[in-house]
Amino acid sequence: MFVLILGAPGSGKGTQGKILAERLAVPKITTGDLLRAAMKEGTPLGLEAKKFYDDGKLVPDSIILGMIKEQLDRPEAKNGAILDGFPRTAAQAELVDKTLGQRGQRLNHILLLDVTEDELVRRMSARAQVEGRADDAPEAIATRLQVYQRDTAPLIAHYAQRGIVHRVPGTGTVDQIAGDIKRIIGR
Ligand code: AMP
Repeated sequence: MFVLILGAPGSGKGTQGKILAERLAVPKITTGDLLRAAMKEGTPLGLEAKKFYDDGKLVPDSIILGMIKEQLDRPEAKNGAILDGFPRTAAQAELVDKTLGQRGQRLNHILLLDVTEDELVRRMSARAQVEGRADDAPEAIATRLQVYQRDTAPLIAHYAQRGIVHRVPGTGTVDQIAGDIKRIIGR
């Protein structure tokens, strides 16, 4: 089963994705984590990505598409995966559809974590204190929210046409939200 967790930055994609991946025993693929690891190691890809990441901008598709393809092609992701943080653009969505389609697979569910903008800002600001992420600085937060609305939110309509989008209220406790997701997915 392939499940995409979609939502604005700070909506809890990482937390819920981890719970779901463990329950379904499939890998969670997280482009943000892969980028953070590449930046920490100082690889050429990481250094290039950092110019965009720190400002809260999307890392260009020219960098991300290869990363996504490589991850989806891993043997561990043969039968399913939780997609966390991608696709975030139309080109990324196309690549995911194409890669899975060539294997006779498709995205089964899109979970849209619904959180108000005030709450998103509150959560990311709190996370900045704990994790010290450069892109949790106030200006980067504002950029990330704008980028989400402009580039990523349109994907909701794209998937809604297929009838696979489920809206999940993202403001309860972690357990409540995980319970909602379990009911939606059916396991
Ligand atoms: P996240 O951890 O998902 O909030 O992502 C943090 C940052 O990593 C984003 O603001 C982007 O700069 C970059 N990033 C993560 N995933 C992607 C993606 N699929 N496409 C482009 N940039 C991404």
